[in-house]
Amino acid sequence: MHRLIRASIDLRALRRNFALARERAGRRAVWPVVKADAYGHGVKAVVHALADADGFCVADLDEGLALRGLGVTCPVLVIQGVYSGAGLAAAAAAGLTLGVHDPEQLALIERDAPALAAGSLRLWLKLETGMHRLGLMPDAALEARERCARLDAVAELGMMTHFACADTVDHVLTDAQATEFGMATLGADGPVSACNSAALLTGAFQRDTVVRPGIMLYGGTPLLGRTAAGLSLAPVMTLRSRVIAVKDVAVGDTVGYGATWVAKETTRIGLVAAGYGDGYPRHAATGTPVRIGNCDVHTLGRVSMDSLAVDLRTAGHVRPGDEVVLWGRGLPVDLVAAAAGTIGYELLAGLTARVPREIVGGEQV
Ligand SMILES: *Cc1c(COP(=O)(O)O)cnc(C)c1O
Repeated sequence: MHRLIRASIDLRALRRNFALARERAGRRAVWPVVKADAYGHGVKAVVHALADADGFCVADLDEGLALRGLGVTCPVLVIQGVYSGAGLAAAAAAGLTLGVHDPEQLALIERDAPALAAGSLRLWLKLETGMHRLGLMPDAALEARERCARLDAVAELGMMTHFACADTVDHVLTDAQATEFGMATLGADGPVSACNSAALLTGAFQRDTVVRPGIMLYGGTPLLGRTAAGLSLAPVMTLRSRVIAVKDVAVGDTVGYGATWVAKETTRIGLVAAGYGDGYPRHAATGTPVRIGNCDVHTLGRVSMDSLAVDLRTAGHVRPGDEVVLWGRGLPVDLVAAAAGTIGYELLAGLTARVPREIVGGEQV
């Protein structure tokens, strides 16, 4: 492997974050969310490192089938469910648990269930409780539950919902959603699931039986105004590259596309082999933090596809070949995300396929 940029994936940190989720979950089952290639970390290594999880959650059917292909035998929830008869049959054959968020999906299930083996379907009805994204209105969900219960193919009927503002502690919408979901699931005998990372950490809802943490397992903060370290979460991914050139630019020289940065004094700059072609955000403004050795430096000018420039005026002696941390250990992804006007989730999930992932803290799986 000759690429200078690479992401190391620390499975020990992942396990520590998972242990924290378990502790917060108490008696509830923990189903890690591993959609989008485990938030960019590589789903294979992640599911093997979390082999003692009670289940996993993914977004779509292909992701669910891929987990079965990796030998995952525990329950797997396909959050968005299926959209075709072929999809339904494949999910039933693979023993996947399906989210049902729309009346069309319900119609499909009622149409095709008679042709499926008895007990081959596990369905979790997704309730609309205030996010107004995907979900059945609570009345429709209760009716759907009765209809699904009559189908021989249905072995399990769960209820789930998702919070819109759990990242803000004590948000009124979270309280309203929790109340609505609590009422709708009163006396439910199947699985009940509400908490994402934020709701799990704040305790916004505690009457669910299955929690669905994602970002906290990867060491990103799920809470606005709280750092991951402050929540005892350790970064799992560290994105590193190297300095490939060091030079001085003179007063009035500009750096990078669009000539957006202009030197006001002679300035030593470094060019780093990382850019938006790797998933480093092009929206990261001048001043985005970068670490070289033990020095905190920052970006200058626009991020290119394969390189970015950093200001070396405050750094010690930096030479081509020196190692650079773009995010991860020593530089929280959430700080870089804030400088790019986004959240850590997007940076992690947006790492592109050309960046090699190296596993540390576990056997290479
Ligand atoms: C992505 C997702 C989660 C995980 O959310 P985090 O904020 O990463 O913990 C949980 N539930 C649903 C429905 C999701 O789509």
